[in-house]
Amino acid sequence: MIEQLRHAIRDVPDFPKPGIVFKDITPILADAELFEQVTTAMAEPFVEEGITHVVAIESRGFILGAPIAQALGVAFVPVRKPGKLPNRTVREEYKLEYGTDALEMHADALGTDAQVLIVDDVLATGGTAAAACRLTERMGATVVACTFLIELSFLTGRAALEGRRYEALIRY
Ligand code: AMP
Repeated sequence: MIEQLRHAIRDVPDFPKPGIVFKDITPILADAELFEQVTTAMAEPFVEEGITHVVAIESRGFILGAPIAQALGVAFVPVRKPGKLPNRTVREEYKLEYGTDALEMHADALGTDAQVLIVDDVLATGGTAAAACRLTERMGATVVACTFLIELSFLTGRAALEGRRYEALIRY
C-alpha cells in the first residue's frame, strides 16, 4: 500500500504560494479501495487504545478523520477556522511564518473524560496540530496521540509535538 500511496500523492509545486510543494491527496480519494485502505491503516494502531473522540482539523483532516472515527466507533469533533462553528467556541492561536492564525472548537465538544485522537492530512511545522492539542487539553480532555497521512520530516513537526505520541503513514 505504501508504494501505491507514494505514486498517488501528487506534488504540486508553488501552491498555495511560491516555494511550497503541496502534497495533493485527491488522487487517493479518487481511488475508493486505496482511500479505504488509508483510513483503515490510520485507525489500526488505535483500535485498542480506548479512544472516545476523533478531533479532526479543517478541512482535509475532516476527509480522513470522519472514516477513522467510524472505523473506531467513536465520536467526531471538528476543529475549524475562526467564525465557522455556529455555537459557543474556544479558540487557540498559532504562529505562521508571517503573523498568526487560529483554530476553534465548540466549547461543549469534549468532556474531561474524553480520550482524543487528533487527525490531519499533513504534519509540516506542527503548529496546527499543536494548537489542536492545546484546544483539546483546555477542555480537560486527554490527547492520546496525533495521526497524519503524511509527515514532512524535513520540517519542525516532530519538535512541535515533542513529548506526544504521533504516527504517520508516509514520511518525506
Ligand atoms: P503545519 O501547521 O505547518 O504543520 O501545517 C499543517 C497544515 O497545513 C495541515 O492542515 C496541512 O493540510 C497543511 N499543509 C502544510 N504543508 C503542506 C503541504 N506541503 N502540502 C499539503 N498540505 C500542507
